[in-house]
Amino acid sequence: MKDILIIGNGISGMMCAIRCAGRGMHVRLIAPGPSEQSQSVMAAGGINAVTAEHEEGDSVRCHIEDTLKGGAYIAGKNAVEGLCSHGEEIIRFLEKIGTVFSVDENDRPLLRAFGGQSHKRTHYCGASTGKQIVSALIMEARRFEAAGMISRSMRQYFHSALIEDSVCHGALIYDETKRKLEPVYADALVIATGGQNCLFGKTTGSTKCDGYAVGKLFMQGAVLKNLEFIQYHPTTLETSQKRMLISESVRGEGGRLFYLDGDKRIYFMEDKYGKGGNLMTRDIVSREIVAAGREVFLDISFLDKGLIDRKIPEVRDLCAKYGGLDITKEPIPVAPSVHFFMGGLAVHKDHETNIGNLYAIGECASMYHGANRLGGNSLLAALYSGMIAAKAISEKSSCSSHPEFRDLIAQEQRIFDDMIEAKSPFAVMHIRDMLADTMRAHMSIVRSEKSLVRGMEDVRYYLSVVDRIHYDASVSAYTNYSIKGILTLALATFACARARKESRGAHYRGDYPEMSKAYEAATLISYENGEYRILMDREKAYED
Ligand SMILES: Cc1cc2nc3c(=O)[nH]c(=O)nc-3n(C[C@H](O)[C@H](O)[C@H](O)COP(=O)(O)OP(=O)(O)OC[C@H]3O[C@@H](n4cnc5c(N)ncnc54)[C@H](O)[C@@H]3O)c2cc1C
Repeated sequence: MKDILIIGNGISGMMCAIRCAGRGMHVRLIAPGPSEQSQSVMAAGGINAVTAEHEEGDSVRCHIEDTLKGGAYIAGKNAVEGLCSHGEEIIRFLEKIGTVFSVDENDRPLLRAFGGQSHKRTHYCGASTGKQIVSALIMEARRFEAAGMISRSMRQYFHSALIEDSVCHGALIYDETKRKLEPVYADALVIATGGQNCLFGKTTGSTKCDGYAVGKLFMQGAVLKNLEFIQYHPTTLETSQKRMLISESVRGEGGRLFYLDGDKRIYFMEDKYGKGGNLMTRDIVSREIVAAGREVFLDISFLDKGLIDRKIPEVRDLCAKYGGLDITKEPIPVAPSVHFFMGGLAVHKDHETNIGNLYAIGECASMYHGANRLGGNSLLAALYSGMIAAKAISEKSSCSSHPEFRDLIAQEQRIFDDMIEAKSPFAVMHIRDMLADTMRAHMSIVRSEKSLVRGMEDVRYYLSVVDRIHYDASVSAYTNYSIKGILTLALATFACARARKESRGAHYRGDYPEMSKAYEAATLISYENGEYRILMDREKAYED
């Protein structure tokens, strides 16, 4: 029986675990906390799929075209076709395992549209789509757990992969309960660690998704892709802990963006783009808000209160709780914030990376969204990627034995022990805060050569002191050892953004404001002997 190690228990990791177990493989699934705390539960808006009950005029072809167009034509065509054509199968599977999607009085699915969609095709479960999908996946996983096919552990973190001759044999795991590193050998290692929020500090997402696994694997030889494409969500509400997402469903239900010129409301999106202006793609709306140069508001108060209560109760409650606002009576002050990462580990269409038996799925893998993701497409991509990675793993012949990695494990253990003993004036949380300031200032919505160079200089400096940081006992050992991988990923992100001398999708350069045919390709980056090597992949080798 094959042994599969999956890191991360959000929607993609859970889907992959279930599908691997269903194919007769034994799965160990590790994460810091329960699935109920993964970022996936935050997804409120919905999941895209064209099903038999589609809106008139819609089709899988329209979904494919919207996705490719939204991604500014650098997402792999075949991969996107696979994604969109499996939408119905995924919705039916979710229903089968207990996800209850919202329906109208005739039992037809209620659908909404996100920005960049030509038709309403987003299925949703009231105000808690992510939560309901995660709950259904947990129930399904428990069946396999009872049969001994899945074992789920918490308070365990990825440390590094066990790689020899470009083949992966498992991972070193940090077990927080034992405060120890331990090797876990596996026939396939699946990375499902979500986006890279902690690079930016406060975002709409979870800081548990810190990008460390992606940065560490990059240092171990994995190729990364499209890191410069970082989606800012245009409408978020400032709170002390994080930026609260004001779902696109508010604009889907007719919400209007405006700023004040004296007492006069200026509906700047409608003025510039016409009737559909408020639902332009996220990159365009975010840039227009920045260009407005003053406080912007989102108004839905004109909508019937009953409709607000029925269709967007989560936004109503969130604004009341965190902003003291009654959205049925007053507008919401909004600003853009980092929300989603189109870039990550480069994968082939079966989700295997350039390292054999190392797979990446969900938001940490770069595949379907090109230069910009459409709302509702990432839950679909997380589920689809988990599904097809499981299929590919089951069809691949397994290694007859695993090397013991004695030297590597001893070396990593030494570094780990030294870190706990280390002393210096630099505290890890201080470096993380400084990194977030750097990223927000220099990897912002509008970039330039000058800002990117400045950002790289900052990160290089943080990297130069990182080996001398003292162990910060107020945070976990994981937070201490992960900083180097996080900084390495940040530097790679700046390198990708500098290499792309054009504006496309979510990557906007004030010094190169036009889209250029010469850059109609993915950005690949690799790490060789401490050097970063960029390749603009015109053959789209990773999007086959
Ligand atoms: C506020 C918000 C609303 C959203 N709404 C929608 C929506 O309506 N529709 C849509 O399609 N998308 C939406 N998204 C995006 C979508 O939720 C995510 O892209 C998707 O859920 C990612 O799933 P995942 O399985 O890749 O990762 P996650 O759900 O982020 O799970 C990652 C897992 O990896 C674990 N992990 C991370 N690092 C480590 C490590 N080093 N070691 C061990 N474990 C680790 C984490 O703890 C977690 O368990 C939204 C995102 C946000 C932030």
